[in-house]
Amino acid sequence: MTPVKGGYAVDVPVINVSDRARREQASVFSTFKAFGVTFRRMFRSLFKGDMPTISYPEQQRPYSERFRGTHILTVRNDGSLKCVACYMCATICPAECIYIEAGEHPNPEIEKFPQRFDIDMMRCIYCGFCVDACPEEAIVMSREHHQAVYNRSDTIYNIEKLMQRPGIAAKGPGYRPNVPFAEARIFDPATQKECPFPSVVDERHPAVLYESQINKRH
Ligand code: SF4
Ligand code: SF4
Repeated sequence: MTPVKGGYAVDVPVINVSDRARREQASVFSTFKAFGVTFRRMFRSLFKGDMPTISYPEQQRPYSERFRGTHILTVRNDGSLKCVACYMCATICPAECIYIEAGEHPNPEIEKFPQRFDIDMMRCIYCGFCVDACPEEAIVMSREHHQAVYNRSDTIYNIEKLMQRPGIAAKGPGYRPNVPFAEARIFDPATQKECPFPSVVDERHPAVLYESQINKRH
């Protein structure tokens, strides 16, 4: 039977597992056949060195350029942050984990820049919606996924950490709208020591994101 959903006919295959098992003659023989696959893999690993296992973290596999890892804030050619503090990423974020405070940019054509841009990595679900929503190619993702830290406050990444950290150069950019970059670039600490418009908010409260979200809900 073809169910109808939203005015369109949709073919949904129905699988009856017991019928299928009877048809395919599931038996003791098929169980041993399955064991055969396991043993074949085991002997290949033992004698041919065909080991699919990676000894993490000593060995690490290369990830795709579409990998949704820890975020990167990109910069313009002059090294200033590409972000114009439009709040589109923070608005679309389903985990509500982006916190931005906008400042007035000296260039009236740019208008705004983020004085503060924090992402709470423990709330982030790495969906990439912020990257999709950004009209400026200002936030992209990397191929980094190591998030092990010793305290909660280290899981909140501020502008400096989002813009430059050792893992960015080591792993490279991941999910982003343009490959190669169209208008932005990644901050290069070898050629540039600091961002022309750094964060001006000195005091950082690790709980600020939680507090702001809790206050919003009440
Ligand atoms: S990846 Fe998703 S959850 Fe994480 S900051 Fe971006 S929009 Fe929010
Ligand atoms: S990162 Fe992009 S979407 Fe988010 S505030 Fe900056 S310009 Fe807007």
